[in-house]
Amino acid sequence: MKTIYSFIFCCFIAHTSFSQDFSDKITLVIHGGAGTITRANMTAEKEKAYREALNLALQNGYSVLKQGGTSLQAVEAAIMVMENSPLFNAGKGAVFTNEGKNELDASIMEGKTLKAGAIAGVTTIKNPIRGAIAVMEKSPHVLMAGKGADLFAKEQGLEIVDPSYFYTEARYKALQEAKKEEKIELDHSENTKKEIRKNPKTGFINVEELIFTEGKKFGTVGCVALDKFGNLAAGTSTGGMTNKRYGRVGDAPIIGAGTYANNETCAVSATGHGEFFIRSVVAYDISALMEYKGLSVKDAANEVVMKKLVQRGGEGGVIALDRNGNIAMLFNSEGMYRGYIKGDGKSEIMIYKDEADK
Ligand code: ASP
Repeated sequence: MKTIYSFIFCCFIAHTSFSQDFSDKITLVIHGGAGTITRANMTAEKEKAYREALNLALQNGYSVLKQGGTSLQAVEAAIMVMENSPLFNAGKGAVFTNEGKNELDASIMEGKTLKAGAIAGVTTIKNPIRGAIAVMEKSPHVLMAGKGADLFAKEQGLEIVDPSYFYTEARYKALQEAKKEEKIELDHSENTKKEIRKNPKTGFINVEELIFTEGKKFGTVGCVALDKFGNLAAGTSTGGMTNKRYGRVGDAPIIGAGTYANNETCAVSATGHGEFFIRSVVAYDISALMEYKGLSVKDAANEVVMKKLVQRGGEGGVIALDRNGNIAMLFNSEGMYRGYIKGDGKSEIMIYKDEADK
């Protein structure tokens, strides 16, 4: 008799845990890049445009979650808004490579299944985040690059555009400026020029230094979401760096560096100096601190972004979200375009450092 009761009890527990409703916890967090974003180099008009675009991304993602959609669908919806806006360095508005092309990277990861998909160096997929999702859902692979990835997206029926679709005058001018001064730079650089120093021994310009010779902004976009089923997802999309050399791939399509999601810990999307984020395996490191050390999402993100990355000279930030709807939006640069929306529809958009951290 006792065994029957314990069996029924176990079934009840199993049932309630499987059907646990997270409706009141649904949350969506976005970023539109970190860097030298200060009130001094912002105009009222520009700020309004950014806030409107970020709000649209939040609302689109939120309506998916509110209608019972998955976190993956919400991440896709929010990121597509930012990819379609020329304000961000992702999709339309992506920065130019040294050869005058736009080469796009994106990735996606699901916290429930640990399935992931990514594309690197693509030139014709209108919404790179959809390419990443197709790799995850329609191929046995995780990362596809270059021509093959473009072809795969076409075969999957994704919207394909002529590479000229990605052209924007502002980014093209930024490339010309960067080329004039032999710089590889991150998106939205302001005119805070510093002298480019050459290595006295080799006579060559130090690449790490080149990247940071101007005011720094990283216009990558990203989103993390928690749906009513209690599943987390994370996605990131970028054009990379202005004047990047052929074939350069940043952290955005590298699972564990720019993007990671695990229902047991958190979902993370990063923006910043990709080389440092790859070397520090930033997104996975945050998850690992939660998994192995029991840190909260905020403490884990703080450890990696504000301590480890700072010590190593890696500038940028992350958005992170756990299964209870706890958020971290941390960056070690001047600012980060960021925002969140919660189950009750309450949303907040922030840009500068002095705006309250969540
Ligand atoms: N992380 C991106 C890269 O290195 C740049 C960015 O965040 O804007 O490609």
